[in-house]
Amino acid sequence: MRFDVVSLFPDMFSAVRDLGVTGRAHKQGLWSLGLWNPRDFTHDVHRTVDDRPYGGGPGMVMMAEPLELAVAAARAGIAAEREPPGDIPVMLMSPTGKRFDQAMAQELAHGGGAILICGRYEGIDQRFIDRNVTHEVSMGDFVLSGGEIAALAIIDSAVRLLPGALNDADSALQDSFNTALTGLLDSPHYTRPEQYHGVSVPAELISGHHANIAIWRRQQSLALTAARRPDLIAAAREAGLLSKADEKFLRSLGGQAK
Ligand code: SAH
Repeated sequence: MRFDVVSLFPDMFSAVRDLGVTGRAHKQGLWSLGLWNPRDFTHDVHRTVDDRPYGGGPGMVMMAEPLELAVAAARAGIAAEREPPGDIPVMLMSPTGKRFDQAMAQELAHGGGAILICGRYEGIDQRFIDRNVTHEVSMGDFVLSGGEIAALAIIDSAVRLLPGALNDADSALQDSFNTALTGLLDSPHYTRPEQYHGVSVPAELISGHHANIAIWRRQQSLALTAARRPDLIAAAREAGLLSKADEKFLRSLGGQAK
């Protein structure tokens, strides 16, 4: 998999390229990263990438051309690496986009990667978006000062799903939101010591009884999801992912399971 990022702050991407699970996966060659700074695609001495908004108002707007030339360079880089390059999603980080979720991360992990566009300032000239962008993606209903943190989150969430990225292949399966399994929230985790400030690890987890442990985890997931994200319970039910035992347990929770 290959990600290409168009950003005024390419240094920020050392965080995913060099550290942790994604850093190790990068070293293993599971994914590669191309960084393209729109400033390198300007023609004036000030290397201008932004200008004032037409119609007035505060702030500055990123100009279309340096971004478009950066995308073209990214495409050429991808084509040099794999022939044919195939359809490459061009994803704009934007608070007005579709909310990013685990299903989108899974889709990306199954594909060849994407070109990620990071805005800064007030935003980006709409003509660049209309001509180049295939998807607009939001991290949530809040405003970041740039698209970099959104792009980092997307890369991290997709790369950790690549076969071989996580030490234990099953751990991604147990994560929250995994649509292949249940789409529920993950159950709580405990590690040593067995007693911590007078609180002990739940008895089921130290019982050594695998079936009971699985039931405990499942019920914790169901209870947590019912309390915090009833929408995910409804979606799992609709997708046929809840067993008779799950439904019985949810009914036993009473009001909070509705
Ligand atoms: N004026 C814009 C916000 C611009 S913030 C608005 O009100 O919609 C500057 C840049 O940060 C954006 O171009 C975008 O790339 C990025 N950004 C901000 N919030 C984001 C979010 N929730 N998700 C993804 N990208 C975001």
